[in-house]
Amino acid sequence: MKKPFVDLSECTLCGICTELWPKVFGMNDAGFVEIADMEHYPEDRIRDVIKHCPADCIHCEEI
Ligand code: SF4
Repeated sequence: MKKPFVDLSECTLCGICTELWPKVFGMNDAGFVEIADMEHYPEDRIRDVIKHCPADCIHCEEI
């Protein structure tokens, strides 16, 4: 299964991912993007959010 992850060193906290996919992308208490635990991450949704990240810092990994 593929799971998205964020390279926090590149993330500008623009909030686009949290708007596009709020069930998965959220801001944690420390103010960084955090990925929620899900049973499954649809690959088309992962591709969409990757495409829209202006900092190109969303990637996906096989878990
Ligand atoms: S869209 Fe990219 S740059 Fe913007 S908050 Fe999400 S991970 Fe960070």
